[in-house]
Amino acid sequence: MESKKEVIIIGGGVIGLACAHYLLEQGASVRIIERDGIGDGASHGNCGLLYFSDLIPLCAPGAVSHEIYRALCGTSPLYIKPTLDFTLFTWLLKFAARCRPRTMLRTATQKNEILHYSIGLFEQLLALPDLGCDFERTGILTICNDPKNLNNLKGKNDFLKPFGIGYTPLDRDQLLELEPALKPSIAGGWHSTFDWHLRPDMLMTAWRQNLTRRGLIIEEHAKLLDFEISGNTITHANTVQGKFAADTFILATGAWAPRTAKQLGLHLPVQPGKGYSITMERPGICPGMPCFLYEKNMVVTPWTSGYRLGGTMEFSGYSTTLNTRRLSKLINGATQYLKDPTGHPVIEEWAGLRPMTYDDMPIIDRSPVQENLIIATGHGMLGLTLATGTGKIVADMVYDKTPDINIGPFGLDRF
Ligand SMILES: Cc1cc2nc3c(=O)[nH]c(=O)nc-3n(C[C@H](O)[C@H](O)[C@H](O)COP(=O)(O)OP(=O)(O)OC[C@H]3O[C@@H](n4cnc5c(N)ncnc54)[C@H](O)[C@@H]3O)c2cc1C
Repeated sequence: MESKKEVIIIGGGVIGLACAHYLLEQGASVRIIERDGIGDGASHGNCGLLYFSDLIPLCAPGAVSHEIYRALCGTSPLYIKPTLDFTLFTWLLKFAARCRPRTMLRTATQKNEILHYSIGLFEQLLALPDLGCDFERTGILTICNDPKNLNNLKGKNDFLKPFGIGYTPLDRDQLLELEPALKPSIAGGWHSTFDWHLRPDMLMTAWRQNLTRRGLIIEEHAKLLDFEISGNTITHANTVQGKFAADTFILATGAWAPRTAKQLGLHLPVQPGKGYSITMERPGICPGMPCFLYEKNMVVTPWTSGYRLGGTMEFSGYSTTLNTRRLSKLINGATQYLKDPTGHPVIEEWAGLRPMTYDDMPIIDRSPVQENLIIATGHGMLGLTLATGTGKIVADMVYDKTPDINIGPFGLDRF
């Protein structure tokens, strides 16, 4: 009889928990090593969208010129800190090189497969009785203030139709009837019924409890220092809390993956993409579903238990300090679309680091150097949405099973 597999996951974000979930399901003994607390990274204060219709990669045709134009007008949600960081510069050039129609179609097709796979797995996961997290299937509204932008959205809708995803166009009156929290000055928008939402911090807390009951061991405040390696096998993870042995190691350290992988001789082209959110009590006139505010590139997410404004993308290194100008952009943005944009009191102002790859696709692969290491990072703007698909793929890889979907597009050999 095969002995029980001992697996260590480095990183206790949503990707780490998802890997733990499917590994426990397959009978592994699992330990998570986390530098801070479980769910303290990007998985804490994100917008909570299960954005299954979000196939179009960030590196789409026109993305660079559009953002330069918006930066010149002072309306861009993107900020790139002037720096002599050669790695970031190369990453940006490679991103720009991918903004071509054929690359977009290929990436969207590959992304669609893992998004679709993740929906089915979330369906099963969220049916668990102890995973209460304000989950709802209302869909998401995309709202335009400028009528010219409704045409851009029509182009997006035409692109999505062959994938079986169609947004419903809504004129101003239809939109106001569906969502009375919007200001009458809006131009119109689109309703996507494919997408769901939940409260990410509640999911992380509930999932942790569920997994712990099923045998997960968690080491918190146990920053990974380095690995002990024998030949091409990792034997131990050395942390500030001591050293831990396992048969297999999973690297799920999100935006910090390039740092944790450095000692292993792996080059992971992941950059931290900083985003902000403000969590409040529900405002008096609260939207009934999440709203993507098109011109501001930000999201408003309502839950039974609260309300969050989130967005912006900064390439400014690993600091998570709060920039008050960025935070006030979220409030100013929401004020342009919503009758009652803020709730009181403010519960939390937050910044987190998205693990961004330049082709906007995750990395899910075995290390080409160490035979017992699997890497799961680079989920960018969609880490919550892709968590279940990623976790199941990783667990299948640990057990040498062929994953249910083609994982070629997530391989390290593409870089
Ligand atoms: C403002 C904002 C809004 C977003 N909205 C959405 C959304 O609506 N939907 C969606 O799908 N995605 C969204 N995202 C993206 C999503 O949050 C991320 O893709 C996802 O959380 C990444 O998960 P992760 O587990 O890879 O990383 P993280 O949650 O960051 O977890 C990585 C963990 O690794 C730990 N770690 C790092 N170094 C070490 C070390 N040396 N030793 C031990 N542990 C270590 C960290 O402490 C951290 O807890 C948003 C992100 C932001 C910032």
